[in-house]
Amino acid sequence: MLSTMQDAPLLTSRILEHGRRIHGKSQVITWTGAPEPDRRSFAEIGDRAAQLANALRDELGVDGDQRVATLMWNNAEHVEAYLAIPSMGAVLHTLNLRLPAEQLVWIANHAADGVVIVNGSLLPLLAPLLPHLPTVEHVVVSGPGDRSLLDGVDSRAQVHEYEELIAGRPTTFDWPELDERTAAAMCYTSGTTGDPKGVVFSHRSVYLHSMQVSMAESMSLTDRDTTLVVVPQFHVNAWGIPHATFMTGVNMLMPDRFLQPAPLAEMIEKERPTHAAAVPTIWHGLLAEVTANPRDLSSMRMVTIGGSSCPPALMEAYDKIGVRLCHAWGMTETSPLGTMAHPPAGLTPEEEWSYRVTQGRFPAGVEARVVGPGGDVLPWDGESAGELEVRGPWIAAAYFGGVDAEPVRPADKFSEDGWLKTGDVGVISADGYLTLTDRVKDVIKSGGEWISSIALENALMAHPEVVEAAVVAVPDQKWGERPLATVVLAEGASVDYAALRAFLGESLASWQLPERWVLVPEVPKTNIGKFDKRAIRRQYADGELEVTKL
Ligand code: AMP
Repeated sequence: MLSTMQDAPLLTSRILEHGRRIHGKSQVITWTGAPEPDRRSFAEIGDRAAQLANALRDELGVDGDQRVATLMWNNAEHVEAYLAIPSMGAVLHTLNLRLPAEQLVWIANHAADGVVIVNGSLLPLLAPLLPHLPTVEHVVVSGPGDRSLLDGVDSRAQVHEYEELIAGRPTTFDWPELDERTAAAMCYTSGTTGDPKGVVFSHRSVYLHSMQVSMAESMSLTDRDTTLVVVPQFHVNAWGIPHATFMTGVNMLMPDRFLQPAPLAEMIEKERPTHAAAVPTIWHGLLAEVTANPRDLSSMRMVTIGGSSCPPALMEAYDKIGVRLCHAWGMTETSPLGTMAHPPAGLTPEEEWSYRVTQGRFPAGVEARVVGPGGDVLPWDGESAGELEVRGPWIAAAYFGGVDAEPVRPADKFSEDGWLKTGDVGVISADGYLTLTDRVKDVIKSGGEWISSIALENALMAHPEVVEAAVVAVPDQKWGERPLATVVLAEGASVDYAALRAFLGESLASWQLPERWVLVPEVPKTNIGKFDKRAIRRQYADGELEVTKL
């Protein structure tokens, strides 16, 4: 039997029109470094988004699903682009300004971006790339910055001023009635191996994900809130917040390029956001700042923290100053909201703690399973560790294969029965809370069991004489793989591997303890400060490390 319900497509244009009309007074507040930030109402943003769409169509010829890229900080113009570009039927492609130049060029060419909207302050980054971007026909510059950097650049792209381009154009646009499954936005993830991979979000996935973001079990945001959006708009659509806020009227506080701890502390004290979203590094920096120069952070009732594991000590430190961090897990392929760690009802603060330190529980839209080393689906018992696989309406089913090419589904990323293989290793408790223990590429596969490299590292770094420790898998004739521990000792400490091993034995099973040890002056790091385990494995394979075997 068919339903009798209407079949309205889930489109970003609905989000745009809803926000500008129902929540017209809500604001996007952009930090500018001037004494007063830029304040723009959702009604104005809606008008300007329509003007931008008119300009893109009438002046720049965007009339289909061309890719319009942004190379921008978090600010009001970027929100306008977020709403206008997908709503008119084009594809918003957010370029990650932290990527190395070669990767940016590769990504923009792979997506065949036709237009780039760029913040003036990022022209030093874009100008040298332009000669290598043959598909870019138009560059639209917004905000302060030295335009002369584009003079004499070897490119066919025409340069436009954002404000001049949209000025005087109609503030309405006849948004097309698109198929909700068509592309709305795209974002590339750059792993440590292989080419970057493009995830293409649909109107439907953006719409449903926005509803999930707003729900009480997720970020719980309403028009009484102001959210400080530190997570960049080029990182998985700023975790979906700009679209979600237009749905619910949440004010957005945008830091633009002022991402250092001192201006962040200042904007929290002055604008009093109730919520914020950012990765742990930001919260570490802010904590050090407010410890040295106290600021009033009391407006923040909840902070969404994710992108990498949140150390419990950081949560505790913020608890002490009255700011509650709520841990979340996700990835580009999951739009990104996968889990959030709100404890179940009815617990004491101590009982809540054991839930808060997990990555969180899955919402109804995300189905999860854990697959063990032998390929079996493991029970949700809080102990059986395997690779996390997920599926649902805002989870990727494939990667962008290139213009006019079919999407690609690498076997290490998608299971035969249609689940996304996350590459994260963890356990799920009987009540659906996820705890991650490793990445698949870093876990140590020893005799059919998995040893968590992170568990070993955390246990080692809890030793008073260990400053840093990185653990990697190395080949072993008997067990397949065994852990190799590299440690950096505190000044003046002397090496006693047997003692360190005994210390680990206090919290870990004996078969998990490393027998290979190396003393290093420093753990090699990637350009974003993570332990570079590939480098350690290579050094070991090349015989560059002085290994002691117990
Ligand atoms: P990206 O696609 O760049 O957002 O990276 C996604 C990856 O970041 C995930 O697959 C995880 O490995 C990691 N990640 C994200 N959130 C968390 C978290 N809360 N705890 C641990 N790892 C996380």
